[in-house]
This record gives sequence, C-alpha cells and structure tokens, in this order.
Amino acid sequence: MQKTIFILLFFVTFAQAQERNVTLVLPWKHQFQFAGYYIAKELGFYKEAGLNVHIKEYDLKRDNTKAVSTQDVDFGIGHSSLILDKLNKYPNIVLLTAIHQSSPLVLLSRKRADITSLKDISGKKIMMSRDQTYTASINAMLSSENLKANSYKVIDTSFNPIDLINGNADLMMSYSSNEPFAMKEKGLEYTIFDPKDYDFNLYSDILFTSSQMIKNNPDTVEAFYQATMEGWEYAYSHIDESIEIILQNYNTQSRSKKALAFEANTLKKLAYQEKIPFGNISDIKVKEIIDIYHILGLITKDHKIDYSKFIYQSSNNLKFKDTKEIDNFNFIFLYSIYFKILIIALLLTIFIGFYFKRRMDKVLALKTAQLNKQNNIFNKNISSSKADINGKITYVSDAFCYISGYTREEIIGKTHSISRDKEIPSDIYKDLWMTISSGHSWRGELKNRKKDGSPYWVDTVISPIFDSKNNIIEYDSIITDVTLKKVLEEFNKKLEIEVKERTIVLENLAITDKLTNIYNRLRLDQELSYNYKNYLRYDKIYSIILIDIDFFKKVNDTYGHQVGDEVLQKVSFIMKELIRSTDILGRWGGEEFMIISPNTDLNGAYTLTQNIRSNIENTIFDSVNKVTISAGIAQINSNLDEKSIITKADEALYRAKDNGRNRVEK
Ligand code: GH3
Ligand code: MG
Ligand code: MG
Repeated sequence: MQKTIFILLFFVTFAQAQERNVTLVLPWKHQFQFAGYYIAKELGFYKEAGLNVHIKEYDLKRDNTKAVSTQDVDFGIGHSSLILDKLNKYPNIVLLTAIHQSSPLVLLSRKRADITSLKDISGKKIMMSRDQTYTASINAMLSSENLKANSYKVIDTSFNPIDLINGNADLMMSYSSNEPFAMKEKGLEYTIFDPKDYDFNLYSDILFTSSQMIKNNPDTVEAFYQATMEGWEYAYSHIDESIEIILQNYNTQSRSKKALAFEANTLKKLAYQEKIPFGNISDIKVKEIIDIYHILGLITKDHKIDYSKFIYQSSNNLKFKDTKEIDNFNFIFLYSIYFKILIIALLLTIFIGFYFKRRMDKVLALKTAQLNKQNNIFNKNISSSKADINGKITYVSDAFCYISGYTREEIIGKTHSISRDKEIPSDIYKDLWMTISSGHSWRGELKNRKKDGSPYWVDTVISPIFDSKNNIIEYDSIITDVTLKKVLEEFNKKLEIEVKERTIVLENLAITDKLTNIYNRLRLDQELSYNYKNYLRYDKIYSIILIDIDFFKKVNDTYGHQVGDEVLQKVSFIMKELIRSTDILGRWGGEEFMIISPNTDLNGAYTLTQNIRSNIENTIFDSVNKVTISAGIAQINSNLDEKSIITKADEALYRAKDNGRNRVEK
C-alpha cells in the first residue's frame, strides 16, 4: 500500500516536473479581451499541453514588449504597434496570432449635433494617448480627413467616459467593447468614429514572443499557441461560461456580467471576420499596416521585411475547433476542415473530370485522326469499287483510278469491261458473273488494260452485298495490282525454260562430237557402262559395233584434211539415219565409230551393220567419190565384261580389214 502511494506520488511529482512554466503578460486589466487565455488555463488546455501558464495583468512599470524581447517573460499581447516596435526597436519579436482582426480602438463622443462627422472634430478636445504608435489608426483616420494635428486639441486620457459627460473632453479614445457600454448604462447616446470604417484596419490583441523563445523552445511555443487558440475558440463559442469564469477568477475591474457580455459580443465581431481564418496574420495586412505607419511618418527608413521572421509559422496555423455554437456559423464553415475536404473533393472531381475529358478528347481526336488516316490510306492504297446489280460502277477509290489510268468521272457509270483485256477468254467472265450473281464471292487474277492500253494484272475479289431481305443490291470489289508478280512469274517461267535449254545444250555439248555432231567418246563410255550394268542386273543383252573407214589416210593425203573431215561428217550422217532410235552412235576416235545396240543380238547387229556398210558403199562422196567401211561386231555374254566386249569387237574389225575391207565380221 505504501509502495503504491509512493509510486503514485512519484508519478504526480514527475508529471508536475514535466510541466513547463510560461509567463504571459496582458496589456490591460482582466476583462473579456483576454478570455481565451483564461479558458485555456481554467479548462486545462494549457495543462494538457504540458504548460503551467502564469497570466499577469497590466503593470505600468513594465514595458511588455521589452520584457518579451529580453525574454524576461515568454509571451505578451500587444497592438499593431508591435509591428513598429519590431521595425524600430525590438527586431526579435515574433507575432503569433492576432485574436482580433480589427482594433476596438475608436473615437467616442456623446451624441451631439455638432459632432456628426469626422470634419466636426476640428477645434475639438480629444482625450487620448500621446503614444502615436498606440493611436496610429485614429491618427490615420483623422489625417485622412485632412484634420491636421494642430486642428484639434489632444488632452491626457482618464479612460473614463465621465469626462465626456462633464465636458472635459468632446471626444475620447475608447474601446468599442468597453466605454460605449458605460455610456449606454448611463442612458447616454453616443457616436463612434471607427478607423476601420475609414479603411484603417489594424490588428488587435496580437500574441507575441521572441525569436529566441521560438528557437530554444519550439515545442513550448507551439503547445502554447495551440492551447491558446483552443481556449479562444472555446471562449467565443461559450461566452456565458467564459464570463462566469472571469467573474469568478479574473474580475479585478469588478465588471458586471452585462458589461462583459457587451465586450464579448463586440470583440467577437472583431475576431471573426468574413473570409479570414480566426487569429490569422497575413503578410498583406502587415504591409498595409506598415503603410499606415509610413504615412504617419512613424517609420523613417525603408525596411526590407522578411515575413518568415515576422510572423510565427505554426505547424497547424489554420486549425479550427467545433464552431457550431458560433453565430456566423456559415462563415466559419467556410474554413472548417469539412468544408476544405468538400472543396478539395470537389476540385479533385472537377480536375479528374477535366483530366479525363481532355484525355478522352485527345483519344477521340487521335482515333478520328487514325481513322481518317486509315481511310486515306485505304482510299489511296486499296483499289476498291462498287457496282450496281447491272455491273454499272457506282464508286471507285483513288487507288482504283490510279491503277486503271482512268479518272473517277470516266469510270463511274461504266462497267468493268472498260478495262477488260480482249485476250482473256470470255469464259472467265461468265464464271465470274455466274458466281457473284448467285450470291457468292469470286476471286481470281484478271488481266486488264489501262486507259493507255498497257496491260496490268489484278487479283480481284468481288463480293455481293445483300439487303435485309437477302437480295443482292450491289457488288463490292477489291483489286490488288499483281502486275509485278505476274511479270516476275512470266520472267521466271522464261528463265526456267532458258536455263533448261541452256543446260541441255551444255549437256549435249559435253557429250557430242563437234565435227560429226554424233555422241563423243565420253557418252559412249557412259552408255557402255550403263548397258553392261543393265545386262548384269536385268540380263538385258546388247551388241556393240566398231566401224573404221578404209584407207582413210589416203583420203587425207590425196584430198586434204578438210575433205577428210567432210567424209567423216557424211559417214556419220548416213549412219545416224540408218540406226534405230534406241541405238547409240558415237565417234570412238579418229575415223573409228561405235554403235551400241541395246536389246540386239549378234545377228540383229550384223544386219544393221551390213545395211550401213552397203549404204556407204553406194553413196557418192564429194571429191573422194567412193568410201567404204569395215566393221566388227560383238554381243555381250557371260564370258565377257564391259571392256572385253570392246576387245572382241575390235578383233572382229581387224579380221574385216584382214579379209579385204568393206566387210562386216562377227
Ligand atoms: P585402214 O584401211 O587400214 O584403216 O587404213 P587407214 O588409212 O584408214 O589407216 P588408219 O586407220 O591407221 O589411219 C587413220 C587416219 O585417219 C590417220 C589420220 O590421219 C586420219 N584421221 C584421224 N582423225 C582424223 C580427222 O579428224 N580428220 C581427218 N581429216 N583425218 C583424220
Ligand atoms: Mg582407223
Ligand atoms: Mg581406217
């Protein structure tokens, strides 16, 4: 138990030790003018913020601005003259918040016939402070009406409206929130000259501190600032409760409840002004105030003002509490967090809307452009046409005109026969019409003629178009110029034939004897090999015949080599004519020839050879007159092979020579 108490005590002590002592000095005695501070203290806002705030009433002996500047105290409350103080004397003071957007400082008079406008002040006695910085707004108002300082008499102020009643003064500097009430209480009517009405609108009840305080104790400053704002907003939304607290704890002036209520309601109007966040200090208005001081000659030198050092930047400057009880709720709502969220959401919606609209517009524009481009490309590159059911052309694309060489005007109304090539068999067109008129698509390559008569080939697709009742209403055609393809095809075909022919020629060259135009030795060797293989594999017999011109040396010697060649050519020619198509005749070498006779036995070969021999014998040769040949024949058999068959024929040839020439031996 003791232990628990000890721990509790420890925490209480610790918690108290955590609270920071802060001193706030007021520029006047306790009254509703400082209600926010009392509320923050009495309702524990300061305590919650870890602050133990000491609120000190006005003390004649203390210069509040100097005290804050020298950090004898932490916070002070002052008038707009703080701006002058900062510029002229205490550059380290920083303004935290202006509780009242307008100064309650006014000129007050009894309601008199001779004081109805500012001009009437001329020659009058005014009871007011001689501190021009304090009375700046009033001085500015007076000078704005061309009332020079010597046109009225300033007398020391008692701050008591009794002097207006007893005639000591005609007018007095007063707080609109205080003295008019006193007049009213006495049943006296009054006139107020408010600088605000003359556009000299100065801040009032500015909470300020020093830059050192902000630098060294930023958390304390922020905590004090926030709790103060909270206190003020509570005070203005709970005026009666606040008055009760003042009456109980702060009524050093013995004010009545009514007086405090008058003050509260007067000041509230100065605190909450249209379109201005509660407590706001703006650069613009500070500049305007500086201008007023300039006009009044209170600032001698030009100051470059860094507002970041002038006005405290709270991390949550525009924070607002629940303001439901406040009269001008709508105005406050403008600045409430809900309203801001609403505005942001609205702006976001509009922005997103705009963004998407712009995007959609862009996409649409792009798509349209693409479509146009495609149409253009289509029109320019795709040759298309439409024809009615009678084949009369109703539409042609640019590309179609280009390909056909006709202008659109020349084609429209005509039929496709305008470009038909007369060489194309009419059967194709019959087939085409049969197909499409029966409701089918037709595809084929057609040869057409341009306007200038030059041919072109088109791959053509013609499709019938139907109406809802399935009747053909028109024919659409798309044609692709395939002239190049066709030309290439033709060229390829020709090339192929040529190559084939050339190959044959080459092949023939390789196997033909140049002089006699019969096969050469190479070809004979191939045939010998082929026939022998054929014999081995299929038992296909063959015979070979070796032929040699008799006494050919003599021909050469007697008539010359040229005549010898001619004899060789003629003998070859005769033999070629006499052999069968299956026989192979070739020049074996010099004036010797060989005939390979497939499927021919020795007797068949003999008959053939005898026929050749007698034909040559009976032929008249130019110059030489008579030429004879000798021949030897051999037939393949199992005792012979590819080579020995030749030897055998050769031996037979020798025998023919030996036996008197112009003979055939086997
Ligand atoms: P034989 O009856 O015994 O065959 O007597 P021959 O004179 O024909 O004797 P041989 O066959 O030995 O002589 C062949 C001659 O044929 C030799 C050569 O000058 C001639 N000759 C060979 N090739 C050609 C040729 O291409 N043109 C010409 N003009 N003469 C050729
Ligand atoms: Mg010979
Ligand atoms: Mg010979």
